[in-house]
Amino acid sequence: MKNFAKKDELQQYLAKLRADGAVITFVPTLGALHQGHLSLIQQAQQLGNVVVCSIFVNPTQFNDPKDLEKYPRPIQDDIRKLEQVNCDVLFNPDVPEMYANNEKWHLDIGELESLLEGKFRPGHYQGVTQVVYKLFDIVKPDIALFGQKDYQQVLVIQKMVDLLKLPVKLVMCPIVREPDGLAMSSRNVHLSTDDRKRALILSKTLNRIKQQFTPDRIGQLQQEAIVAINNEPGVTLAYFEIADGETLHPANKNTKKFAALVAATVGKTRLIDNVIISD
Ligand code: AMP
Repeated sequence: MKNFAKKDELQQYLAKLRADGAVITFVPTLGALHQGHLSLIQQAQQLGNVVVCSIFVNPTQFNDPKDLEKYPRPIQDDIRKLEQVNCDVLFNPDVPEMYANNEKWHLDIGELESLLEGKFRPGHYQGVTQVVYKLFDIVKPDIALFGQKDYQQVLVIQKMVDLLKLPVKLVMCPIVREPDGLAMSSRNVHLSTDDRKRALILSKTLNRIKQQFTPDRIGQLQQEAIVAINNEPGVTLAYFEIADGETLHPANKNTKKFAALVAATVGKTRLIDNVIISD
């Protein structure tokens, strides 16, 4: 695997491949890689000739400095995992390589900015669009792959691609889960043994809602889900919403694509999960 820390060197390398007709696919990550990330790399391998993975813990998308500080950074393990799945290129820049001092960024992403995750993590999606815009500009991928795990993020990035007419196709990949249903996340390493068990209430509740869902029971099912999660000791719910999967507005009977999305803090760890109920 080629490993670049400097954007110029990466760009030179990719320019040659592009000139030879290679289709470049791209998987941006914050590192602390798990099977969810690796599944994106494997899907990227099916769609193009060269897979670029970036590992960059982007400071501008963290609204909590403590969360940024304690974010896991096991770079040697990550490199080993990427090599095991035959990833072609790693881009692993440091902060000064990505940002000049006091850079400004604002993109009008409409209501996605203030709904659900946006409401609880002010500025988060500005940081996400800022770094993904920069990464797209450096890598110039034909196809970029993102996980459904961060469902709202996929909608936000698609909105940016549409607004700025960026020449990249986005692909959303399914959530990879532990055998007991917990959505894989780099943050799961922070869960104590008890928290790890309690966290299962999120995926269990999402599954139950999906199984029992009918459009005339949205309010009731949402209420039952909120009660179930609130009753789990050590779990503090931020939101549980049955939403329109395209706009993330609260769903109603006329909604066409339904999704249920949840965020909660388990012990001290903030987790998110979701399920698409119908396409
Ligand atoms: P992150 O490093 O958390 O920013 O994640 C990098 C990419 O991997 C994002 O597109 C995530 O949505 C995706 N991802 C994270 N966890 C999972 C998972 N459990 N299953 C599938 N994709 C995931």
